[in-house]
Amino acid sequence: MELKLNNKIDCPVKDLLSLIRQEDIEHLRKALLDVLEKSYPAGEFYLYEQGYSIYDAHEKKFSPTLIACRSKNKNCINKNQLMKLSSDDSAMSFDGFKYLPTENFVQVFTVESERSNRGLLITICEDVIDEHYVYTLLSAYNHQVHLLRNKETDSLTGLLNRQSFDSQLVKLHENFDLENRAGDEPCKFAFALLDIDFFKQVNDKFGHVYGDEVLLLFSNLMKKTFRDSDMLFRYGGEEFAVLLHHVDLELAETILNRFRENTEQFNYPMENKVTTSIGFCEFNNKIPLSSIIERADKALYYAKEHGRNKTFSFESLISQNKIQDTKINDGDIELF
Ligand code: GH3
Ligand code: MG
Ligand code: MG
Repeated sequence: MELKLNNKIDCPVKDLLSLIRQEDIEHLRKALLDVLEKSYPAGEFYLYEQGYSIYDAHEKKFSPTLIACRSKNKNCINKNQLMKLSSDDSAMSFDGFKYLPTENFVQVFTVESERSNRGLLITICEDVIDEHYVYTLLSAYNHQVHLLRNKETDSLTGLLNRQSFDSQLVKLHENFDLENRAGDEPCKFAFALLDIDFFKQVNDKFGHVYGDEVLLLFSNLMKKTFRDSDMLFRYGGEEFAVLLHHVDLELAETILNRFRENTEQFNYPMENKVTTSIGFCEFNNKIPLSSIIERADKALYYAKEHGRNKTFSFESLISQNKIQDTKINDGDIELF
């Protein structure tokens, strides 16, 4: 069976089905590249996502990371070539296509990516790849990304939900070495728990609907304050979690304090001041995930007990003998 689109091309339904059948984004990416490779066996296909592992914080520049590829000769375009491609605005602002210094045609398509960052599909082939065929595939692909992303996000705030928290943090923790190799230099991650102070009073004073609005505004402030590459979760009712990419503890503290101050200064409706307490710690695969969460929670608890509207790292509280260390059980990687 063939599907006609605008009477221009025939895109086999089986190609589309193989995309919309996928139940997670990683398999969806693989399926897209499989389909493209079957149709253009000589082609090379690369999927890039903006600023996940490589992020130029100073220049705030498009800094894409290869997230999946199909290449016969394993001759991935390197970062410089990609930067050259993406430095041209036309490639960035809308889909276009161009030559590399090689004999091959390079076509660039924008795609939906996992965490609402921009994604790119780059194709390199001796022949021009039928754009209409690719667009048909990509409309199915983008649609599926949307559906899968909706499953992963919290409906009130649009942040990643608790299910994603469990699955994505486990995945990241397991692949921590891989993730680290992807960057140009060894990178550090920090994990933070944020809890709105005296939120029950907000509800009691102004009602649940207003409470929800505060949660939404608070989340929007998180999206504005943290980088695109950081992962933001709604952890529970008025509790949030952030995984900060490429920060040491000192930088993490600066960033988290900036958010804490932004919250304090933000003009929520009803002239109601909202503050947050924050606990954080280092995130790496030497520490079991359950201990990482426990450490951040201990630091958060300390902030709650010591005046609220404060940020503490587990490591600095330990070094100052203000809290007790948790015994790490090596085999223990269960979340709860
Ligand atoms: P603390 O500073 O110790 O964190 O005090 P708190 O009042 O923020 O903490 P507590 O755990 O006592 O209360 C949390 C409140 O958050 C209670 C609950 O009704 C409210 N809450 C949780 N989820 C939602 C939600 O989705 N919407 C609204 N409006 N309120 C929520
Ligand atoms: Mg709470
Ligand atoms: Mg609270």
